[in-house]
Amino acid sequence: MPWVKREDCIGCGMCVEECPVGAISLEKDVAVIDMANCIRCGVCHDVCPEGAVRHDSERIEEEVEENVRKTKECMNACATYLGDVKEKQKCLNRMIKYFNKEKIVIEKTLERLQKLKEELSLSLGTSEDDTVERK
Ligand code: SF4
Ligand code: SF4
Repeated sequence: MPWVKREDCIGCGMCVEECPVGAISLEKDVAVIDMANCIRCGVCHDVCPEGAVRHDSERIEEEVEENVRKTKECMNACATYLGDVKEKQKCLNRMIKYFNKEKIVIEKTLERLQKLKEELSLSLGTSEDDTVERK
């Protein structure tokens, strides 16, 4: 999924004009993507003259840090609101369960998408790698 690196955006509006579904707007001269409407076509990435539209993979570390930060926040809140420091450990166990569930959802989704990819290639008569992917 695309995201805009705010400090690199010069507010030229090219991505706003080219987005096929109108999912980008300028707020205070910075492009903002409405992810609920984005269809992941990659056009904004291709047209941006400043390389300000970035890939999800560039945010992995940031997202991991955020997950750890959120976990610590919940642990502390559990201890405070439930009045027992041992609640931290219970909370941590729940968060680990939650992220394990997320991992399983992702793994199963990837299995299904891989199958979809194979079926699509078969119906289009192309090899799975024929399609030129936008970044
Ligand atoms: S990926 Fe496509 S739909 Fe999503 S914001 Fe960019 S141009 Fe619009
Ligand atoms: S094309 Fe790039 S620089 Fe121009 S508004 Fe969009 S993100 Fe910003």
